[in-house]
Amino acid sequence: MTVSVVIPLYNEEENIEMLHERLKDVLNSLDTGHEIIYVDDGSTDRTLEFLEGIQKREKDVMVLSLRRNFGQPAAFAAGFDFARGDVIVTMDGDLQNDPADIPRLLEMAKEYDLVSGWRKKRKDNLFTRRIPSSIANWLISTVTGVRLRDYGCSLKAYRRDVIKNLRLYGEMHRFVPAIASWYGVSIAEVETTYHPRLRGKSKHSISKTIRILLDLMTVKFLQSFSLRPMRFFATIGMLSGLSGIGIFIYLIAENILRGTNIGDNPLFLLGILLPIAGVQFIGMGLLGEMIVRAHQEGQKRPIYAIKKILGPGGKRSRDEK
Ligand code: UDP
Ligand code: MG
Repeated sequence: MTVSVVIPLYNEEENIEMLHERLKDVLNSLDTGHEIIYVDDGSTDRTLEFLEGIQKREKDVMVLSLRRNFGQPAAFAAGFDFARGDVIVTMDGDLQNDPADIPRLLEMAKEYDLVSGWRKKRKDNLFTRRIPSSIANWLISTVTGVRLRDYGCSLKAYRRDVIKNLRLYGEMHRFVPAIASWYGVSIAEVETTYHPRLRGKSKHSISKTIRILLDLMTVKFLQSFSLRPMRFFATIGMLSGLSGIGIFIYLIAENILRGTNIGDNPLFLLGILLPIAGVQFIGMGLLGEMIVRAHQEGQKRPIYAIKKILGPGGKRSRDEK
């Protein structure tokens, strides 16, 4: 078993050296091979400079430098594309996650496809972080049906094939356990240490929370209907069409039995409208099916642009599996 550790970094110059020291100590104590992939997410401080220094000293370190700040999910996605380990470990680069937890995650990863960290004792602000986050955890668990106590923890371990088969957009990396579980992936939660941020600034913002909620709606819709839009639209369409036909049967029966004029009944308009709407819905379902197919063919596009690649991955192509 080999391990790839993927770490996104955005303006973390104060943390890198210590992070690397601690990480190396932990990884060297393992009896498995490893590589570290640092993804510099368009930092404007000396993050890249520090990373270049580390990479020059050490052969098992790879540095991806993104052209601009694409955000943490894109940075993770870039790291995943280049990772070669059988197990991929992700963590934050601000020393809030503790590298010392990695061996425990890896132990669990022998049994499970995905091991997710659980920050049991969070040391963040109660009102701005912990309360919103417990609401988010409850909401995501309820909506997706995959119950985790901590969706927001970056420290996770994935079997390589699990992550390689998922495409992540927006804040989607948060929902990886939920998305992965639809593919029948086994998931475990492991308690992890979580430190307060000592150096550098948090990049968290309230707009991130809103984006997570919007993404949750997308995830729910995709989960239920993305591959079979016809089922969703055709069900509505047929209900609508059949109601229209029902109305006409009623109107004709009334005409025959009581001699009323069909056109005088207000239901007449509805009887015309519903079947037309029904046909429209079914048409939308068919269009949806076509879009799904086109979309699935065209999904090879990456969501980031790489400026340069340092280290052994330089000659690797993105598609190399
Ligand atoms: N990060 C990143 N790109 C961004 C924002 C953050 O790569 O646009 C990295 C950041 O350097 C850190 C991790 O993602 O390693 C988590 O970010 P942060 O600690 O600011 O978020 P918080 O822990 O406060 O939610
Ligand atoms: Mg942090």
